Amino acid sequence: MPASDKTPPARSTPVRTTGPARTQVRPATEGWTQKKDAEGRPLLQFASPKRGKPPVHLADMTPEERIAKVKELGLPGFRAKQLSTHYFTHYTSDPAHMTDLPAEQREELVGGMLPPLMTEVRRLTTDRGDTIKFLWRLHDGALVESVLMRYPGRITLCVSSQAGCGMNCPFCATGQAGLTRNMSTAEIVEQIVRANRAIANGELGGKKRDDHSMERVSNIVFMGMGEPLANYKRVMDAVRVMVAPQPNGLGMSARGITVSTVGLVPAIRKLADENIPVTFALSLHASDDQLRDELIPVNSRWKVDEALDAAREYFEKTGRRVSIEYALIKDMNDHAWRADLLAEKLNARGRGWVHVNPIPLNPTPGSIWTSSDIDVQNEFVRRLNDAGIPTTLRDPRGKEIAGACGPLVATTEGAAAAARTA
Ligand code: SF4
Repeated sequence: MPASDKTPPARSTPVRTTGPARTQVRPATEGWTQKKDAEGRPLLQFASPKRGKPPVHLADMTPEERIAKVKELGLPGFRAKQLSTHYFTHYTSDPAHMTDLPAEQREELVGGMLPPLMTEVRRLTTDRGDTIKFLWRLHDGALVESVLMRYPGRITLCVSSQAGCGMNCPFCATGQAGLTRNMSTAEIVEQIVRANRAIANGELGGKKRDDHSMERVSNIVFMGMGEPLANYKRVMDAVRVMVAPQPNGLGMSARGITVSTVGLVPAIRKLADENIPVTFALSLHASDDQLRDELIPVNSRWKVDEALDAAREYFEKTGRRVSIEYALIKDMNDHAWRADLLAEKLNARGRGWVHVNPIPLNPTPGSIWTSSDIDVQNEFVRRLNDAGIPTTLRDPRGKEIAGACGPLVATTEGAAAAARTA
């Protein structure tokens, strides 16, 4: 059930903290019941349900595999590079635009190498055109979203990595719907190509006259639908395609790519060994296990300290500063003592290795899942900064999509839009 559908709760018992008494709202005391597996542990879906596989696409293949596939289709291998150029540089899959390919084989070649992967169902434009939220339907009807945002000097795309999500976080509409399936490498990459196409067509507004940055997606955040590290191989293959120089890939900088997780510790360790300097973000949302067990059910497998240890190891191995994402939820996780506890845990692991990004949750008035008051947000940030932890309250623009890694409430809206256009 989306957060917005919950009945307004009665406020719970105040708890005593280091400051004045503050209300403590907890999912369990407000009617949230954690689904359990056969062993009585919180239900988490790590394996993707078996469904028809998406068509194999050029972006799923290595450059060598692309050449082999083109030859299989009866054409010389160099055609693979031409196709890659069209796709990764001109952002097109339309045979009509590929006049350098032999006319009589063009349709067959493009059909075999660049099969359609997703249909645009709907787009919402906000922030005077600076933000576009896309809803895509995949080949089997599954729905996913991506969000394109222009900032001064950069263009960020928030991508989905799974249709649905198996992590079951109570505040997340995506998580409540469960995991439909893992997305393929090409489906992840296609979101970027389609966004680049929209930008090239002048569909993203807001470019300032003195902004001379390149007109294409420069930054990726894996904070759309899904838990990226639960779809590890395809996500990493997609990252490799993103950073591969054109025309074999999108030629992006690894540093502009943020891979986030709610805390799949073994996968964080694996990521640290990849030797690709992506930015790593841990969606923590609570500094104490008691609350995090409810808020992020994967905490039942890997506790706050284990996740923070793995994040610290990521920094040690890669030299890349880690981001801690913290959605501030009114009276749930926004208490001053929780900021102090977070600072204590981060400082206990050294200095200079981490940055905290609190972000006010998308306000859902009358629900337990609503945004912290401004003075509470500021106090939370101040305490962390005073403790020596660089902390920046995130741009509210990201709020609707990045309160966590799943878009809040978007799923039901999306399903309705998809139903209208099906
Ligand atoms: S918040 Fe992220 S990990 Fe949790 S259920 Fe939603 S999409 Fe999955």
